[in-house]
Amino acid sequence: MLPGGYSEFFSSLRAFLPPSRLLHDELSRLAYGTDASFYRLIPNLVVKVVSEEEIIRVLAESCRLRLPVTFRAAGTSLSGQSLSDSVLIVLAGAWKRYRINEDASRITLQPGVVGAHANVYLAPYRKKIGPDPASINSAMIGGYRRKQRQRHVLRHGAEQLQDDCLDEDHLR
Ligand SMILES: Cc1cc2nc3c(=O)[nH]c(=O)nc-3n(C[C@H](O)[C@H](O)[C@H](O)COP(=O)(O)OP(=O)(O)OC[C@H]3O[C@@H](n4cnc5c(N)ncnc54)[C@H](O)[C@@H]3O)c2cc1C
Repeated sequence: MLPGGYSEFFSSLRAFLPPSRLLHDELSRLAYGTDASFYRLIPNLVVKVVSEEEIIRVLAESCRLRLPVTFRAAGTSLSGQSLSDSVLIVLAGAWKRYRINEDASRITLQPGVVGAHANVYLAPYRKKIGPDPASINSAMIGGYRRKQRQRHVLRHGAEQLQDDCLDEDHLR
């Protein structure tokens, strides 16, 4: 049984999301109550979204019912940033598209792309994205966008690789 406004929220989301992407059983909530940090917050509802249209509708409903939401990409945050005791919105499997411009000076990435995968896409151009966290094999662009404000300039042989290969204005 979902508490308070969460029950109405769940019903409105059921109109356009399958049950498999709306988790509120004890075990799932417990599992999503941890990230890489040592904190724990148990969400009332976990919502897995695969499209922008879905996110727009989920956010509109959460605003209407005044229910706080938190996004999660890979969940490697170390200070509990990807935890919620309200609604946890998870980037489910999708959000993996990318585009590299003609001279490879810019890569456009969806938030579900893993950092190391972005570097694989750029490898033929001998470039890398700017952020280089130790969690690069798991952390995703959606999480970088919030966290990785510090900018690095990388060197590879004689060529200087600019961090503006990752253009934040084009991240979604
Ligand atoms: C072993 C290890 C090593 C690490 N090394 C480093 C390091 O070297 N440097 C460093 O800075 N950090 C490091 N971290 C911390 C963490 O990996 C980074 O903060 C990373 O950027 C988080 O990415 P994530 O995909 O896991 O995001 P999450 O943890 O899922 O989310 C991070 C934040 O972004 C928000 N968010 C996620 N997706 C979206 C979205 N689509 N839209 C809006 N907001 C969104 C979340 O709500 C949360 O606030 C490390 C963590 C681990 C476990």
